[in-house]
Amino acid sequence: MNILLIGAPGSGKGTEAEILCAKNGLTHLSTGDLFRQNIDNKTPLGVEAQGYMTKGLYVPDDVTNRMVADYLKHKNTNLIFDGYPRTLDQAITLDKMLEDVNQKLDHVIHFDIDNNIIKSRLMSRLICPLCKRSYNKVSKKPQVEWVCDFDASELITRPDDAEDKIDVRLEVYNNQTAPLIEFYKKQNKLITLDATNVLPHEFHDSLVAALGL
Ligand code: AMP
Repeated sequence: MNILLIGAPGSGKGTEAEILCAKNGLTHLSTGDLFRQNIDNKTPLGVEAQGYMTKGLYVPDDVTNRMVADYLKHKNTNLIFDGYPRTLDQAITLDKMLEDVNQKLDHVIHFDIDNNIIKSRLMSRLICPLCKRSYNKVSKKPQVEWVCDFDASELITRPDDAEDKIDVRLEVYNNQTAPLIEFYKKQNKLITLDATNVLPHEFHDSLVAALGL
């Protein structure tokens, strides 16, 4: 089974993906994490992607699709797609890439969230650079300030979680990604769940019930 998590930045996709991996044996495919890995390793792909990411803009479709195509050569089942596809071109390309290996996207989970809470959530987000787990300075504090509970790495803030970048990212999401909700509704794959006032484990329970996992 392949699942896509779709929702605005900060709607909780990464946290839910972590829980699904830990409890349901799925593999997390986050294009944001793949780009950040490439940036850390200073690969040509990372250098190209960094210019867009620091501005809060999307990396061009051809670059992003190629990176995912490479990934899918090695693994194309039991995936949780997080942050890909983000444009109509990517959605059509993914359908084709999966069809070529006799796979498909089975379900699309839409994280329905009030835009007003997203900004404050992103501005207080902390990330572990090693295991990629996310924390929040207010609502999901690590046990020791600025230290990852799992591997003791020093937590960081993402450069694109700065206020001006968040505004750009939300605008880009609304213009380019939100239309995919209709695309997947037409394919009868869309499951919309309330992500505004629910805790991660409550969201997980609704998700598991909706998917019959
Ligand atoms: P994320 O970690 O999912 O919030 O992604 C961080 C940034 O990586 C985005 O703001 C984009 O600049 C870039 N990115 C990640 N996934 C994609 C994608 N599917 N298409 C284009 N850019 C992406």
